[in-house]
Parts: sequence; C-alpha cells; structure tokens
Amino acid sequence: MSRYAHPAGSRHAEILPEDNPPLPPEDLNALDPRVWPATARRTGGELTVGGVGVRELAATHGTPLFVMDEEDFRGRARDYRTAFSDADVYYAGKALLTKAVARWVNEEGLKLDVCSGGELTVALAAGVPAERIGMHGNNKSAAELRRAVEAGVGRVIIDSLDEIERLGAIAAELGARPKVLIRVTTGVEAHTHEFVATAHDDQKFGFAMSTGAAAEAVRRVLAAPHLELVGLHSHIGSQIFDTSGFEVAARRVTRFLTGVHEELGVTLAELDLGGGLGIAYTSGDDPLDPKTIAGSLTSIVRRECEEAGLPVPRIAVEPGRAIAGPAGITVYEVGTVKDVEGIRTYVSVDGGMSDNIRTALYGSEYTSQLVSRESDAEPMLSRLVGKHCESGDIIVHDLYLPADLRPGDLVAVAATGAYCYSMASNYNHLPRPAMVAVRGGSSRVIVRRENEEDLLRLDVG
Ligand SMILES: *Cc1c(COP(=O)(O)O)cnc(C)c1O
Repeated sequence: MSRYAHPAGSRHAEILPEDNPPLPPEDLNALDPRVWPATARRTGGELTVGGVGVRELAATHGTPLFVMDEEDFRGRARDYRTAFSDADVYYAGKALLTKAVARWVNEEGLKLDVCSGGELTVALAAGVPAERIGMHGNNKSAAELRRAVEAGVGRVIIDSLDEIERLGAIAAELGARPKVLIRVTTGVEAHTHEFVATAHDDQKFGFAMSTGAAAEAVRRVLAAPHLELVGLHSHIGSQIFDTSGFEVAARRVTRFLTGVHEELGVTLAELDLGGGLGIAYTSGDDPLDPKTIAGSLTSIVRRECEEAGLPVPRIAVEPGRAIAGPAGITVYEVGTVKDVEGIRTYVSVDGGMSDNIRTALYGSEYTSQLVSRESDAEPMLSRLVGKHCESGDIIVHDLYLPADLRPGDLVAVAATGAYCYSMASNYNHLPRPAMVAVRGGSSRVIVRRENEEDLLRLDVG
C-alpha cells in the first residue's frame, strides 16, 4: 500500500481518525510565501532565512531554535502602521515580547500593549516610552497598577469595578490622573471563520454592555476624580479572517457611545477595537491584509458615528499574532522516525509541547518541512511529535515528510513567532530554546537558551 493513500475501508479504518488526512502537496520542498517568513528561500536545497542557512543556525545555536526574520516582523509592523495611519496601532506584547522585539515595535512607530507587570518590565527595559504603553489585564495587582502609574503608562484598560477603586486610590496617593479605557464586551465572539453575536457575555473579561455593567463602569470612572476616561476598548477573539465580527462589535460599541453621549453628556474620544487578526498557518488559510482591515474598520465606525451624529473617535487596533506569527519558525532536529505500520510515521523532534503548546491546547494546525536538505523521496504521511511524556505532545497532526527522512535531519515548523515562545514552559525540565534574529546574512541571539544551571537556579532545595 502506498504510504500516503488514505486507507479508508481498509482493515485500519476503525482505528483511524475520522477526519481524513490532507492529500500530499505536489512539491514537498516548495515554500508557500503566505506561510513561511518573507525572506525564507531554498538555497542549494537548504532553507535559509534572513540569508542564513538553518544548518549553520542549528550548528551555532543548537536546537530547538526559534528563528525570527527581523525584516518580516518589521515589514508587517510597518504595513499596519501605514494602513492605520490615522489610528493607533498597539503591538500586543503577549504574542511575543523580548527586548529586541519591543525595540523593533518602537522603532517602527507602533505602540505596545502589555498585560502583566512582567511584560511591562520587559517593555520598559527595552526603552519603550511609558506613554506609548497600554496596560491590560483582568486582575492587575495593586503592585502592577502602582508601577504602571509611577512609570506613566499611556493607557490603563480597566476591566472590573474592583480595579476602578484600586486604580483610583493608587492614582490619588501618587497625585496622578492616568488615562483609562473601559473594556466592554459586545456579545460578539469571533474565532477563525465564524463569529457568534449574542446579547449576553459569559466570560471573565470586561463589562457587558447588554446588562448595564458597562454603563455603570462609565459612571463610576467619571465619578473617580483621579481617573481620566478617554474611551472604550473591545476585543472580540483571535485568528479572525473576515471583518464581519468586528463590524457587529463596532456597531454595538458605537451605539453604546451614543447612549453615553445622550445620557451622561460625555463624548469619548477613543475606540480600541482590539486584536485577533488571523495569519496563515497552512496554505488553506487566507488572511486579510492590513489595508483591507483598516479600510473596513474605519468606514464602519465612521458610518455608525455619522448616523448617530457623534464625532468619530480615534481608532486603535492591537495586532499581535499578525505581526509576530509569520516572522518566526522553529527549527528542530529529528531524533527518531517510527513507522506505525500502515497508519503513519511518527517523527520525534527534540522539543514539543514545551515550546509549542498550541496544537495540544487549541488543536492548531501548522506547516512543517524537512529543511536541512531537499529530498525527492515519496511523501510519507507523518505526525510530528515532541519528546515529552504525553501522547498529546503533538506539534503537527498530519503532514507529509519525505520517506527518506532520518535522525539528524532538521525540520522547521512555520509561523511559530506568536504564542509559542511566550507560552513556553519547562515541562519535563526541558530547558527553553534560544531565539535568534536573522537579517542580512547574520544571526544574533535575542534570548539565550536555558541550560541545566537555569533549571536548578530557582530550586533552592
Ligand atoms: C490577545 C489580545 C490581543 C492580540 O491578539 P492577536 O490575536 O495576537 O492579534 C489584542 N488585544 C487584547 C486585549 C488581547 O487580549
């Protein structure tokens, strides 16, 4: 039997997953430019990114290795900046935040969102001006809020009544008056190709507009002498591929703004529509370009405000994944190639769910290839797995790798720039990988690899 024929109806049918694996791609060595970083090329068979070959990267820095294409990252940041020229673009630091990344963001003219004291520390250490930082979080501690106010962050996004009290008291004590946005929930929840719009919100973030909670938050912030209410914030989801969810959310928020204007006589000047713009993890994904998104969001808000006779607020967006995701790849070394007869081949690499939890957590799909050489061997239905003590430690469920794959080969997983390093763990006491930035033919370590000393550093016995 061919290794890539799907043996439906064969003796294995009852133990195969119900979803059919995809058909093999025509060319196992072709790099889809939507999935791989902008500077990714096959040079003499080997993958190069930023002009540097993966074999050299692996030999110099070890594996697993996160490789960030600096030009790709900066280019996407610039595209958002340009598309939203009349708006604020905040890079959502939770996608990936290192000092180098924070500097790239700042140099490209974007602002930066953080959602913890730790992220704030990294942003400030990188020299990002505090007034260009927005501080998120549904449970910011008093210490985090104090640090944010002392540093002078540009916006605090308020998420609860407790926080209004807490932040108000801290600001009063410090003689400050931070600018705040109120995070509202619109009942719109968007994921990938679908969104749901409900009247109520059963989730931990923000204040529901439908229940009156958001209106109450507005009243309380307006009554807090040490808080300056400048606008509203709404974030509807992640990995979104069309603007219809934003459209419903923007319409609902604008109506709410109208209500605030009519009942409280207050005009709020800013409307932050959050992040969540999708990227291509596989060739099947078709993300929107920033210009289309900008045009659509701006016109929705403008139209709604004009209809309501309201001044158009200044819009902000917060892309994280859409900037960091496609710029990064993870390079692994193959350790074992195990044929589970008649079903598929399990290819184990030297990392796994500790450097990419997304497949296990969300069932995410990824693209991966043999990158240390080219191969014209026949495609072999494979599953790329890690080295952790979990059978769910899967990086790519179904993919085709060349049948001559062997231990020592390097494979790379594309589009791992966002939510992989930032969610990495030390599970099974695996040291976290290094991250290098590549550009113009050279590589530079931006986060060094953890070593076994690091693993023992916090363990004080
Ligand atoms: C996660 C998050 C973002 C970024 O989401 P992406 O999917 O990475 O674009 C932006 N804003 C808020 C409030 C978030 O929670």
